[in-house]
Amino acid sequence: MPFSSLGLPNYLLGALADQNYAQPYPIQALAIPAILAKKDILGIAQTGSGKTASYVLPILANLEGMPAPKGRQVSVLVLVPTRELALQVVGVFQQFAKALPFPCKSMAVYGGVSANVQMQALTKVSVLVATPGRLLDLMRSQAVDLAAVKVLVLDEADKLLNLGFKQEMDELLTHLPAQRQNLLFSATLSPSVENIKQLLLHDPLVVQITPEADHIDLINQTAYSVTNEQKGPFLRYLINSKQMQQVLVFTSSVYQADQVAAKLSQNKIDAQAIHSKKSQGARTSALASFKAGKLRVLVATDLLARGIDIEFLPYVINYELPRSPKDFVHRIGRTGRADNPGEAISLVTVDDEHHFKVIQKKMKKWVTVIDAATTEGLLSKRKS
Ligand code: AMP
Repeated sequence: MPFSSLGLPNYLLGALADQNYAQPYPIQALAIPAILAKKDILGIAQTGSGKTASYVLPILANLEGMPAPKGRQVSVLVLVPTRELALQVVGVFQQFAKALPFPCKSMAVYGGVSANVQMQALTKVSVLVATPGRLLDLMRSQAVDLAAVKVLVLDEADKLLNLGFKQEMDELLTHLPAQRQNLLFSATLSPSVENIKQLLLHDPLVVQITPEADHIDLINQTAYSVTNEQKGPFLRYLINSKQMQQVLVFTSSVYQADQVAAKLSQNKIDAQAIHSKKSQGARTSALASFKAGKLRVLVATDLLARGIDIEFLPYVINYELPRSPKDFVHRIGRTGRADNPGEAISLVTVDDEHHFKVIQKKMKKWVTVIDAATTEGLLSKRKS
């Protein structure tokens, strides 16, 4: 099915061709016509499914018929759980908004940077992408008015509803007009998402894209059993012997992320850590360098596992396993995307063995565990 059969205006079809979007992804084929028809949507889909464009395109098309925003009002509000996702989503709006035959200002607001600049820029904004905390701050300072919102999007709704945002979300929702289109996107249909579905959505079209099983088949998975002491040297061995030029390494704590990045750097492997304790500037610049292929290793905590779209990421390494099997799937889902095979490697200690079995059972995929001590990396270490 071509994009041209979905009801999008010609100016957006031209932009899609310019961006080399040849065919709609399944979620786009289903969601675009429904959103154009002003229906509510519940999209169960992950980053990588094309979910962002599935709402950005019809929202932009529908703006054509809407009154322009006045003063501090906004027409479309997109709530996201992290600053990184805010930047990513606003980027997609801006990329396609260039093709519109009418003005459409979009901007992102998120914490960790000065609110003043955001306050000043907040006039006549058609599309506002926001994290909940900063949006509430801006509302309390009367820098933004949600009374004219026509479309509300909750992206990564499961995270928005879980990550201690509940109170903020409840408060925000009271400031929105009752008449509006609601679009909910979530990687999973968790009980809290079920709940908000009942609360917010009117006769929604439910689009469930579950690429995980197929997607996981795209990923070459290996695990190595190691001791905690072997992890550092073995990680370096993996990066060097496989000549990895772009690898995302996951740790389970901020402290470990810093330690691992520092140790790699000491060993002349270019690495930076990215986590919630880093300044927004440091997070943005590390991610940008990594995406651009200028930074070889990005060491991240689970906060960054979801939502970050890096095309063609060839390697993901679990330096430590996540507690939740879902997070494991999200982590390794950063690789092997868009039909590009990727490799996910997990380092498993004796203490992790049981938990790793649970993860494999949940993901319905068994991974061969190799004893790292029998590999070149640690054998040569012993010899030297
Ligand atoms: P998302 O799931 O929204 O994060 O999108 C995943 C990636 O797929 C992004 O890099 C998009 O640019 C890309 N993408 C989305 N839709 C299409 C499409 N129909 N054709 C080609 N690339 C796409």
